Amino acid sequence: MDNIVPGSFQLMKKINTGLIIDIIRLKGPISRAEIAKTLNLTPATVTNITAELINKNIIVESDLGQSTGGRKPILLKINAESYYIVSIHIGSTGIRTAILNMESKILDKITVKTRPETTYEEAIKIIKESVERLITQNEKVKGKLLGIGIAAHGIVDTEKGKIVFSPNYGWKDKDIRTDLERMFDVPAFLDRDVRAMALSESWYGAGKYVDQFISVKIGYGVGVALTNNKQQIRGYTDGFGEFGHTKIAFDGPLCSCGNRGCIETFSSEKAVERYAAELGIDADCMAVHELSLNGDERAITAINKASEYLGLAIANLINIFNPRLIVLGGDLIDINDYYFNGAVESAKKYALTDLYKVCEIKRAESKGDAIIKGAAVLVLENLFDNI
Ligand SMILES: [Zn+2]
Repeated sequence: MDNIVPGSFQLMKKINTGLIIDIIRLKGPISRAEIAKTLNLTPATVTNITAELINKNIIVESDLGQSTGGRKPILLKINAESYYIVSIHIGSTGIRTAILNMESKILDKITVKTRPETTYEEAIKIIKESVERLITQNEKVKGKLLGIGIAAHGIVDTEKGKIVFSPNYGWKDKDIRTDLERMFDVPAFLDRDVRAMALSESWYGAGKYVDQFISVKIGYGVGVALTNNKQQIRGYTDGFGEFGHTKIAFDGPLCSCGNRGCIETFSSEKAVERYAAELGIDADCMAVHELSLNGDERAITAINKASEYLGLAIANLINIFNPRLIVLGGDLIDINDYYFNGAVESAKKYALTDLYKVCEIKRAESKGDAIIKGAAVLVLENLFDNI
């Protein structure tokens, strides 16, 4: 017994449960034998875990499958409408709220714009009104809410469910989990936006096929997540991934953290807006994006400049971690080819060649929905914790 790492059995079970749900979601209706074969698990493991999932009404037995000689196998499928999840993304410029079913399909969503002056209390009011409106618009959700997943930018304390510091709004030490649990009377779970994106990629995107990968979320800030065997690396006090605040200049532009010369002041969406302003375009980064599509040279120059710094930042990640895969996500990087391709080119230029050539750099597969989907996974993951 001494050789067994404490919690390793529970962890294995959690991972296996996640994999089984995922395979049923993707390939269902599917037989237990087929699941065992696909995932290389023992039939007993599959039987035990699927029995618990049936008990919880998360999966159901469906039609009989094709026989290969003997008895027709019973097939399993996700009970998509058994429960629903509310997913909330508190971003730098807006709050997105969505309702998802158990197949992680987004049924409905609302986005409300915010300002840097938006207070925490105003944000909670936006969330309350958005959730209530979504539930009113989707009658079947009533009484079937499984939980709330929250993804927030900045520093969070996942264990305590608190927003520690939200640089774009200046919020400090906000107990959002308790506030939302009281409001809606269901369990809530919180993590950083980039980790939610990483979760989404590890469940539904490119991260499914690799043991370890890096996610980079570029908004007004630049956050990093490192996913290892479906688990997030968190650092000593949950602060892992404040990559945007690593410095590349002593006296660079002032950053939201109070310091100067942070990489995000050179490479983020905010940097795109600043470079564009220097060239005479007074617009937000989505408007700069539109201009770049119309061939506006100043807009293209602004985006290219930020992308070169972003690539430099990615090159540093490649040189430190030697990853097999880096996933990039964020509103602008999702849709703007100058930004994405420029960053890839620049990473190639600045990373060590041997490390760059083994690393694939991709966009997040769920694009704009990656964080919302990942926040829903926070609820699903914790559901498995209790199985
Ligand atoms: Zn900073």
